[in-house]
Amino acid sequence: MKKLMAANWKMYKTVEEGVQTATELMQLLTSNSLQDREVLLCPSFTMLGAVGPILSKVPGCFLGAQNFYPAGQGAFTGEIAPEQLKALGCTYALAGHSERRHVLGEPDEFIGQKIVFGLHSGLNMILCIGETIAERQAGKVEEVLARQLAMGLANALSMATAKTLAVAYEPVWAIGTGEVAGPAEIMAAHAFVRAQLVSLLPEYGQKIRILYGGSVKPDNARTIIHLDNVDGVLVGGASLQAKSFSQIVLA
Ligand code: PEP
Repeated sequence: MKKLMAANWKMYKTVEEGVQTATELMQLLTSNSLQDREVLLCPSFTMLGAVGPILSKVPGCFLGAQNFYPAGQGAFTGEIAPEQLKALGCTYALAGHSERRHVLGEPDEFIGQKIVFGLHSGLNMILCIGETIAERQAGKVEEVLARQLAMGLANALSMATAKTLAVAYEPVWAIGTGEVAGPAEIMAAHAFVRAQLVSLLPEYGQKIRILYGGSVKPDNARTIIHLDNVDGVLVGGASLQAKSFSQIVLA
């Protein structure tokens, strides 16, 4: 399985700015072979339709959504459905990002509903998990990760495969703070997630990609990407510029 190098643009950029960054990124990536890497870009909904065709010019680059509502269609004002995302070229979606858990207040059950509905709709899902600094200091890292994995995947076990599911370990204290988890912390968490995945999904657990996220930058990406059980990265801030994200992708 190729390493998945994912960009989360969060609520940044106008359509015009997104098109410009995606265009620059594709220029930087076409001149270099992606080899064992795949690239995923998750921009705001507003620019999915404009950015998708730019990505599709480079094999191995995919479009993803940062969020969706787990229903086919209906009276859900302000929400967006998987089918609407797929019609714009999305093949991936995130669920459980820490900003949705902690800023928007999404509980584990709702995230589990999104994983099921996303898989059922034919999207590849990335389940984001991670502990807060208070949970880490209280010695609860494994407890939190086990709960978020079990509840996130509770009703999805029959649908999740190594292709359709990835997990992103993103310690909340490392997101957007410039504070990166050290190699030992990353390896310990990823080994724990791997063991949980193998136990939940004996057939695919060994191969499901586990991404690391949390202040990944061009100067630390190479070390992180080569750690045991790190099968990719999920990048926020450093993905907003084509040059820095391309350096991470090719690290
Ligand atoms: C993220 O948004 O998932 C993230 C990891 O952000 P940053 O790289 O800015 O820490």
